[in-house]
Amino acid sequence: MKNLLLSLLIMSSFAVHAQVSKATHLKETEKANAQPISKTDSSVYICKGSSAYAYHKSRACEGLTYCTRDIEAVAKKEAEVNHKRKPCKACH
Ligand SMILES: [Zn+2]
Repeated sequence: MKNLLLSLLIMSSFAVHAQVSKATHLKETEKANAQPISKTDSSVYICKGSSAYAYHKSRACEGLTYCTRDIEAVAKKEAEVNHKRKPCKACH
């Protein structure tokens, strides 16, 4: 009898665990969906290196080939105003 109780206890704790990981998974999915779909439309890419001066339409632009720092996607306005970037000659 004791053994039966013990296995029931173990089984129920497994069930709780499964429910928790399911909930976590759902939360992550919601997070991914929460990102604005139109972000890529108005986004430009900037190199975070100190000698970078331009923003780019595409991450694959040749102007970003030699970027040694991180490439960040930002809104076009943000690139112009906050980062003082000019449109890249190669892709604009
Ligand atoms: Zn470019």
